[in-house]
Amino acid sequence: MKFGTKAIHAGVQPDPTTGAIMTPIYQTSTYVQEAPGVNKGFGYGRGKNPTREALQASIAALENGKHCVCFSSGVAATDAVLKLLGPGDEVIAGENLYGGSYRLFTGIYEKLGIKFHFVDIENASNVEQFINSNTKMIWVETPTNPTMQIADIHMLSSIAKKYNVLMAVDNTFASPYLQNPLDLGADIVMHSVTKYIGGHSDVVMGALITNDDDLHEKLYFILNTSGANPGPMDSFLVLRGIKTLHLRMERHCFNGRKVAEFLKTHPKIEKVYWPGFPEHANHQIAKKQMRDFGGMISIVLKDKSIENTYKLASSFKVFSLAESLGGVESLINHPATMTHGSVPKETRESLGVVDNLLRLSVGVEDIEDIIEDLKHALA
Ligand code: PLP
Repeated sequence: MKFGTKAIHAGVQPDPTTGAIMTPIYQTSTYVQEAPGVNKGFGYGRGKNPTREALQASIAALENGKHCVCFSSGVAATDAVLKLLGPGDEVIAGENLYGGSYRLFTGIYEKLGIKFHFVDIENASNVEQFINSNTKMIWVETPTNPTMQIADIHMLSSIAKKYNVLMAVDNTFASPYLQNPLDLGADIVMHSVTKYIGGHSDVVMGALITNDDDLHEKLYFILNTSGANPGPMDSFLVLRGIKTLHLRMERHCFNGRKVAEFLKTHPKIEKVYWPGFPEHANHQIAKKQMRDFGGMISIVLKDKSIENTYKLASSFKVFSLAESLGGVESLINHPATMTHGSVPKETRESLGVVDNLLRLSVGVEDIEDIIEDLKHALA
């Protein structure tokens, strides 16, 4: 099945009791048992819910994976992956990460005895020198948030296999429509479902997808034991969102390209980060592993003043100033104070997340209105 057909049909069946074409919201915390331990496959809502089961099957299919476990947020999904590890274990992570992932790694797991090496993953050979007998996992985001760096998933997965360590990819920025890390050799794909998969800025959720039965069992154990499960209503909303994922992504990519090209020649803009430009450092890798380049773009303004950057961020009519990304509506974000506020200033700036950088999540509105909004605000 091709992607659009899977987005609409995979994982969902007409409801067996009524024939309802849409998976019902099974808003229940528990299930009646005929006798102790005799049930219809559902015991308690934390562990299993039919609406969530359908969603998990749908997301697994979109990532060409065998299994998916959904969590109450993207961060909870990342947290579950780290719970596979123990004190003394080491992780090699991309130095350019979503600020909340960095905060989770350094603010919680470093204290529990896990060591993180934050490395430049644009050059895969950088990674190998950090591998030792304690290394258990490579964690990358690609494209990265917010400077749109690209990691070579296939090459990093080959390195991970050579040393028998897990390869985990945060695929949030690409979405399963643009990139499928399991096909490139990754062991775990993580999504902030909150973003493109949900697509309507009405749900916070995360997901982990894998082909490995044993890994799936461990991740499901962590979900059921730690309890960061999403609710049935949210599962329903995401299932509904997924049905248009391919249509939305087509428009995000179309609009993204137009916006990137418009901004590239704008006199007030110093730099545009977008992996679709041929001069992007890893454009060839992006071209190889992604189907298109998406709607996420970051810009550095020529004017370095934070006050003027704030002023610009608040001058839009179509773009809304807000955290998050991947919804139908265009959003603008100031990473230094918003998504990456928890990354120390010095670290942040060394990674290019400067005070005059703004991140755009280009939505699916009419491109003429988006460009007009940018023109007006920049003027
Ligand atoms: N990964 C990336 C790349 C993100 O941008 C985010 C959130 O912005 C997350 C993970 C965390 O996801 P959530 O906000 O659903 O917890």
